[in-house]
Amino acid sequence: MICNACPFECNIDRAVKPGRCRATDEIEIAQAQLHFWEEPPVSGTRGSGTIFFSHCNLRCRFCQNYDISQLGFGRKVRPERLVEIMLQLEDQGAHNINLVTPTHYTLQLIPVLEAAKQRLQIPILWNSNAYEKVETLRQLTGLVSIYLPDLKYFSDELAQQFSSAPNYFKYASAAIMEMKRQVEENRYDEDGILKQGLIVRHLVLPGQIDDSKKILRWLRDNLGPQTQISLMAQYYPTYQAETLPDMNRRLRPSEYQEIRNYFLDLGFEEGFLQELSSASADYTPDFEGRGIDS
Ligand code: SF4
Repeated sequence: MICNACPFECNIDRAVKPGRCRATDEIEIAQAQLHFWEEPPVSGTRGSGTIFFSHCNLRCRFCQNYDISQLGFGRKVRPERLVEIMLQLEDQGAHNINLVTPTHYTLQLIPVLEAAKQRLQIPILWNSNAYEKVETLRQLTGLVSIYLPDLKYFSDELAQQFSSAPNYFKYASAAIMEMKRQVEENRYDEDGILKQGLIVRHLVLPGQIDDSKKILRWLRDNLGPQTQISLMAQYYPTYQAETLPDMNRRLRPSEYQEIRNYFLDLGFEEGFLQELSSASADYTPDFEGRGIDS
């Protein structure tokens, strides 16, 4: 299958050689587990059924999951086994199936999701970096019920320097508009668990408060103040962060307070504001390949 799935448009056959994302046409995953540290309507009381995919189309130099995204930790999994894994997570009580960094496997996942959707009672959630093409996302219409994109940068220079992602905001903003078109308004069950909808994440980076403000303003102006925003403060320096300006430190309390105030001043009606104490490797899963074997 020739891959042009994401904005890099490699136009190569991944059965022959990996793309820029370093992925072949066989799905690889690093772990499948219940996860309790997502946003409350996602993790709920029983956990989110997370499946972490190996590799990534971005090259974020501060990635907290770099061992799977950049170094490729993980194992190949057959499509039929991946459906079984989703059903097992549902049996364990998961409120949803949470596909973490799935973008580079979109085309391979479509038949998997079509098969899983017929047997799952819980919604499928797309947890991505938003560097995606609208025409690719359109193929997920009716398969994905919840989108959880991370809108990372407003500045193209920052996106290029930190993640090697040309025109990041142009692609990511269009992708989020397409996600919103697909899922419309958020719907919850009687326990407040999200059944359908959109939550937009944004990781606040040290020294980049102005970029964060531009992102929040764009979200308010284009998606409305009722949009659920998840403002994340969990940045801590890891991987190649020390090579980037101002990134070899955590967020200062004054920086986070400034962006929290800005968020509130913009009039957002709903959202999640992470505590600064979350900026710790303690909240990053250890990837040991759990949940892959039958
Ligand atoms: S998904 Fe991978 S191979 Fe396909 S276009 Fe994107 S980077 Fe290239």
